[in-house]
Amino acid sequence: MRDELTQEHICKGLEPLRMNGNSKLLTQLNSCVHCGLCAESCLFYLATKDPRLTPARKADLVASIYKRYFTFTGKFLPGLVNARDLDKTTAEEMVDLLFGSCTGCGRCTMHCSIGVDISYLVSVGRNMLSNMGMVPATLQSTVNAAIETGNNMAIPTADYVDTLKWMEEEMADEVGDPEASIPLDQPRKNILYTLNPREPKFYPLSIAAMAKIFYAARESWTLSTRMYDVTNYAFFSGNQEEASLIADRLWKEIETLDAGSLVLGECGHGTRAFRWESPNYLDRGFPFQVMSSVECIAIYIREGRISLDPDKITETVTMHDPCNLVRNGGVIREQRFILNQFVRNFVEMTPHGTDNHCCGGGGGMLSMSEYNERRIGAGAIKADQIRNSGAKIVVTPCHNCVDQLIQLNATYKLGVKIQTMAGIVADALILDPGS
Ligand code: SF4
Ligand code: SF4
Repeated sequence: MRDELTQEHICKGLEPLRMNGNSKLLTQLNSCVHCGLCAESCLFYLATKDPRLTPARKADLVASIYKRYFTFTGKFLPGLVNARDLDKTTAEEMVDLLFGSCTGCGRCTMHCSIGVDISYLVSVGRNMLSNMGMVPATLQSTVNAAIETGNNMAIPTADYVDTLKWMEEEMADEVGDPEASIPLDQPRKNILYTLNPREPKFYPLSIAAMAKIFYAARESWTLSTRMYDVTNYAFFSGNQEEASLIADRLWKEIETLDAGSLVLGECGHGTRAFRWESPNYLDRGFPFQVMSSVECIAIYIREGRISLDPDKITETVTMHDPCNLVRNGGVIREQRFILNQFVRNFVEMTPHGTDNHCCGGGGGMLSMSEYNERRIGAGAIKADQIRNSGAKIVVTPCHNCVDQLIQLNATYKLGVKIQTMAGIVADALILDPGS
């Protein structure tokens, strides 16, 4: 943490408020009527009942700085309108509330009585902190690894290729076809597929699972060795230049390989950051098709390219909706369509879909180890949802959520199995002997 803020830091910190003074931001900053309704939306508040952690308090923090520097009353009578100096105390509180107590899940925005986009205000606050060089070092090092090495876990290319070769053998054994492969850097394929680096690092079987699905669907696809990372943690750190750089690399790789479409691996924020945000960062539209792997699997089922065995999964299954794929990304029905094809005992959590509670692992929380205790504590809301569902398998199409749910499973002794969508679909695949 900085000793003191210089005038230069303050100027840079105020830049996002200054530049947006006449836009959407102005409305959002001035709209909250302090009704308090959003409090019950937020997992950090629900798990602690700490009034400091309400969404309105987080939005107010950004608004109070705006008032101090950009409104007449705030400049001359700050106490009257709760206007605050952007000093060290305020900046530290911003770090704690906007990075350490918010996943940007957007549930509060959906519940706000008058539509204040609270998670947008949180992202503006993160942008201010990024300008001041106050992104938590743990999160920034994840961004730096992506920029310096091409993937956020700094996995050396040789290790990545070794893992893929190993998974290729696993998959070939499983499908009983020595020719079955995981193609690398192949030009002019229908699909360029991307991964969360947690897969080659910790969960390589999920790569084999999706490869098995592509194999069964007789897809023409490839992975890249140069740029395969679907994540974009600069989207969370609030640094748009870095977010653009990471998105532009993936964009260029699709062009280099001349792939027909991009299928984004199971990562909620990565999907949101590339599919919905990168056209804004990069100021251009997609000349290629972009979809999530969930949508890709649903297409294979609809087109009869894969078949699933309804007798394979006998346990009760529920699903955790990743906030950035569902509430903030619009992929809501496809995952249910897929599971309903072959899972006999599917139960929804309460609430679910666009109203689902965040698991607590989003917003960069998983990479900020200093907030581990708070993250696991806030996850109590999700743990209750899982327990109350009665399910024995929890499916979630996001590797960040998988990590958080695995930790919640251990902490809260839920006794469930956590699976990716590719994992459970691959388990139930009926392989055509002729494929
Ligand atoms: S975006 Fe989610 S975590 Fe952040 S304040 Fe709103 S409800 Fe809470
Ligand atoms: S629900 Fe909306 S208006 Fe009410 S306190 Fe929360 S942000 Fe303000």
